[in-house]
Amino acid sequence: MILVVGGAGYIGSHTNKELNRRGYETAVYDNLIYGHRESVKWGVLEFGDLADRERLEEVFQKYPVEAVIHFAAYAYVGESVNDPAKYYQNNVCNTVQLLDVMRKYSVNTIVFSSTCATYGVPDRMPITEDMPQRPINPYGATKLMVERIMADYHDAYGLNFCCLRYFNAAGADPEGELGESHAPETHLIPLILDAAGGTRESARIYGTDYPTPDGTCIRDYIHVTDLADAHIRALEYLKAGGESSCFNLGNGNGDSVAHVISVAQKVTGRDFAVRKEGRRAGDPPVLIGSSAKAERVLGWKPKYADIETIVEHAWKWHERKEY
Ligand code: UDP
Repeated sequence: MILVVGGAGYIGSHTNKELNRRGYETAVYDNLIYGHRESVKWGVLEFGDLADRERLEEVFQKYPVEAVIHFAAYAYVGESVNDPAKYYQNNVCNTVQLLDVMRKYSVNTIVFSSTCATYGVPDRMPITEDMPQRPINPYGATKLMVERIMADYHDAYGLNFCCLRYFNAAGADPEGELGESHAPETHLIPLILDAAGGTRESARIYGTDYPTPDGTCIRDYIHVTDLADAHIRALEYLKAGGESSCFNLGNGNGDSVAHVISVAQKVTGRDFAVRKEGRRAGDPPVLIGSSAKAERVLGWKPKYADIETIVEHAWKWHERKEY
């Protein structure tokens, strides 16, 4: 049994689907604050909060948990600046509690959601795993702290871990059963699709004066189903005795905000208003990841690498989303 903590969220639910498709049994542990009950269509849902140790222990007693995939975290960068206590408490302290419960029940394998936000503003592109990690906001700091805690638990208690540093997760289940739905929504692609679908009056470009070819920010958009695949590969790698490690997960392609908008206009066939706004605080001009290590060690290669496919899948979900 694989325990998918935060498995009702965006990346967690896609990974839960993929695990079940490949024959794993799963239990999803989620407090449903940001997750959606409707997205747990496979395995069993165990409602609970990571802060609730008693409830968490009940789940470890109920199932023969062989490994944990841990997605549960707060992930709004702006909010983490204004309310860091919320982030350190949940993302760090509650993760320490999860690791301690794992130790108690002799579960020593974990795959953890980390982020490219741990790198801060890197001075070279593409970003490789050995580059300095200097997060510029509390959200990134919490993820980096957990990476460090895992390394210490590895040395002291034999915890086996993979930390997966995602670039910009995007897209939706190609079969249309799952997708992205955040409240509030802050991510570029769903916001653009809201404008295309008419539920938002315009798409917005945050910053047109960046040092990039078209002046807008460049990001590395990675399909959520490719991320799901990477988690299962990381799990199987650890189960086969692979060394604990951290991996970037991106496409290695950079797409500008203006380009993503033009792709969305083409994919949706809709014309919508686009407003140019000032820069959003804390956005680096370019973030592109090298996933050469994940390819070499995990045999992982994104299947849905181009932005058009990513936006197509997101649009398919967007048009008939269930939650
Ligand atoms: N962005 C934008 N308009 C929006 C939302 C985001 O121009 O309505 C930009 C944002 O400045 C960043 C990129 O799109 O450069 C991706 O932002 P998102 O919030 O999706 O992901 P992040 O890179 O912050 O993780």
